[in-house]
Amino acid sequence: MGGIQSGQVDTVMREDRVFAPPAEFAAQARIGSLAAYEKLWNEAAADTEAFWGKLAQELHWFRPFSKVLDWQEPFAHWFVGGQTNVSYNCLDVHLGTPRQNKAAILWEGEPGDTRTLTYLQLHREVCKFANVLKHLGVAAGDVVSIYLPMTPELAIAMLACARIGAVHSVIFGGFSSTAIAERNNDAGAKVVITADGGWRRGAQLPLKANVDEALEKSPTVKHCIVLRRLNNAVHMHEGRDHWWHEMMDGASADCPATPLDSEHPLYILYTSGSTGKPKGIKHTTAGYNLYVKKTMEWVFDLRDEDVYWCTADCGWVTGHSYVVYGPLSCGATVLMYEGAPNWPDEGRFWEIIEKYRATIFYTAPTAIRAFIKWGDKWVDKYDLSSLRLLGTVGEGINPEAWMWYHRKIGRERCPIVDTWWQTETGGIMMSPLPGAIPTKPGSCTRPMPGILPAIVTDSGQPVPDGQGGMLVMTKPWPGMLRGIWGDDDRYRQQYWSKVPHHYLAGDNARRDADGYYWIMGRIDDVINVAGHRLSTIEVESALVSHPDVAEAAAIGRPDDLKGQAVAVFVTLKSGVPNEELKRELKAHVRKEIGALAVPDDVRFTKALPKTRSGKIMRRLLRDIASGKHQIGDTTTLEDFSVLASLQKDEE
Ligand code: AMP
Repeated sequence: MGGIQSGQVDTVMREDRVFAPPAEFAAQARIGSLAAYEKLWNEAAADTEAFWGKLAQELHWFRPFSKVLDWQEPFAHWFVGGQTNVSYNCLDVHLGTPRQNKAAILWEGEPGDTRTLTYLQLHREVCKFANVLKHLGVAAGDVVSIYLPMTPELAIAMLACARIGAVHSVIFGGFSSTAIAERNNDAGAKVVITADGGWRRGAQLPLKANVDEALEKSPTVKHCIVLRRLNNAVHMHEGRDHWWHEMMDGASADCPATPLDSEHPLYILYTSGSTGKPKGIKHTTAGYNLYVKKTMEWVFDLRDEDVYWCTADCGWVTGHSYVVYGPLSCGATVLMYEGAPNWPDEGRFWEIIEKYRATIFYTAPTAIRAFIKWGDKWVDKYDLSSLRLLGTVGEGINPEAWMWYHRKIGRERCPIVDTWWQTETGGIMMSPLPGAIPTKPGSCTRPMPGILPAIVTDSGQPVPDGQGGMLVMTKPWPGMLRGIWGDDDRYRQQYWSKVPHHYLAGDNARRDADGYYWIMGRIDDVINVAGHRLSTIEVESALVSHPDVAEAAAIGRPDDLKGQAVAVFVTLKSGVPNEELKRELKAHVRKEIGALAVPDDVRFTKALPKTRSGKIMRRLLRDIASGKHQIGDTTTLEDFSVLASLQKDEE
């Protein structure tokens, strides 16, 4: 297949398994058949603006909008002229309804302490904290950085900002003082909210100390609010630092939500790249709110009695859209957990599911591969019969990991929603609708209603079904990013220049004959072997289908003859890391997907280097495999010891 058009990718993977939605699930689902999904999708595609305009009536409007979309490519203005408030749509709308006294948040701390907040109680806390912010001079449009552990106060702080029109910038609690300062300065943050610490795998995170260091280099920050989580002695800077509980003590619980323009900024979220300098992705009010609410309903087929658990931290977009704004807009009961999945032991997640009778469980493939590696014995100790739906997000899921999730956690009765989306897209773009779309392991299946993807070459030509190419969106959607904070040029350049008039996702994908999408990895990660362009995910999935392999990362390293050779890094769940196993793995890849993809190098490692959000850092592995000493920026690495041992390996 040499000489294919630029931007195309070859596919070598075959996956024929198909799982229909379970009959009882489909019978009660909002969208209960493929035909119903297709009807809705077609109706939306025929007139996307009319479609979104009609759905937008579900939000509360202080002032109705006069126009659905004003599109000045690449800048979108949705629901022009309207005024709403995301905090109002998440909280106030449920007051005076049977949801008023329903649990909004069921929280479990890592040491086992617990809290429950009903919608009424959450509303009260949010109003009080919004008044605290106002008292410190925070006004609509001001930026507030939030650097908190996964406690209810993290959601309270976000919702309080949204209530008064302050723009929040949540910074994941694992980031360093340098990363905090960089984000404060880029956004011009006025206030930072943090804690005296947080729990992670039994250890205490020194959040306040990190903030103190960052604030030496953050001239725009005037105030710092400190939550008491650990009762640790921390340095309180006179005049600048305030205890959360002291400020809340005197605060009034009366704080009506501010009517905000549809395009008022809601938050900035910095994407920690596996690929370069963080960018502040900007999301705004009405369109984002509508998009996360509708996708929450469609993808999770949410019902009032659900106990919904998304394991993401609010430091990532998944935590914004599917821990806070999506589920609360729908009046869901959200389970929130502070700590690590393997503390005090590897059964913690399953223990939590049993304890709260969780019905929906949404997690990342990196976690699923860890569960597989830890062994079934942890799962077997607990009763998971409350579960009715499973989800994944963040990376592609290897079909064999999907099968384990399906059998072991879902007991072959829970549909799996493999959700493809990005920080930039605001919400889920492609995913099975669990009562309607049959699933295929490894495919995110079909687009959401109102979402029109395409797969194209470099020059924007459509690629035939079955062939890989660049994934783009051909129409704006309400949840899309509105830009990169303070950098319109970079926004245009990154997302709107390579393929004219389309949003460039930066991923490769292919569509099969059933119209199903298969994500093939980042465009920059394609491996080019003798003119054949291979997808990282396909090679990795072939390796993960070997019984000894827990996780794999495939990259291309320079090769004089072939241009690039395939190099793979493998972690094992069983077997001995020796030459024989290397030979066996090569033979396995040859059998699964063919000679072309057989790795030249197989390297065993204890763990793979990952970003803090759990994505494999292929860029770094490429540098290591090609023997470069300069390994680039590593501040987003989860575990430096992994990097160190890989480097040592190299020398
Ligand atoms: P982030 O913005 O950090 O959430 O990362 C978004 C990227 O994660 C996407 O562009 C994909 O490369 C990857 N990703 C997220 N979800 C999926 C999925 N379900 N399947 C494959 N890749 C995914």
